[in-house]
Amino acid sequence: MARTVFNEDRCKGCGLCIEACPKKILAFAEHRLNHNGYQPVASLRPGECTGCAICARTCPDVVISVYREARSAAEATVQGADL
Ligand code: SF4
Ligand code: SF4
Repeated sequence: MARTVFNEDRCKGCGLCIEACPKKILAFAEHRLNHNGYQPVASLRPGECTGCAICARTCPDVVISVYREARSAAEATVQGADL
């Protein structure tokens, strides 16, 4: 399970993250403007987010934070080689 958080007032509406998201779940928020008068980006289907963080790495203004659930202790042990 992953979660994206948008610092909306930093968004300048460039759309780079919308193009970059492989799941195509980002879009400009309708009927809403941010502090600087831009339509900010929002997730249309948050449940489909994989947590890949491509959007966050693409955004030049550091608007997006991506949170993923920590791996379980058992999984961490099994995959210890890549920790
Ligand atoms: S983390 Fe990946 S899947 Fe989720 S919104 Fe960003 S680019 Fe799309
Ligand atoms: S890349 Fe960043 S600044 Fe550009 S639309 Fe997306 S969140 Fe806004």
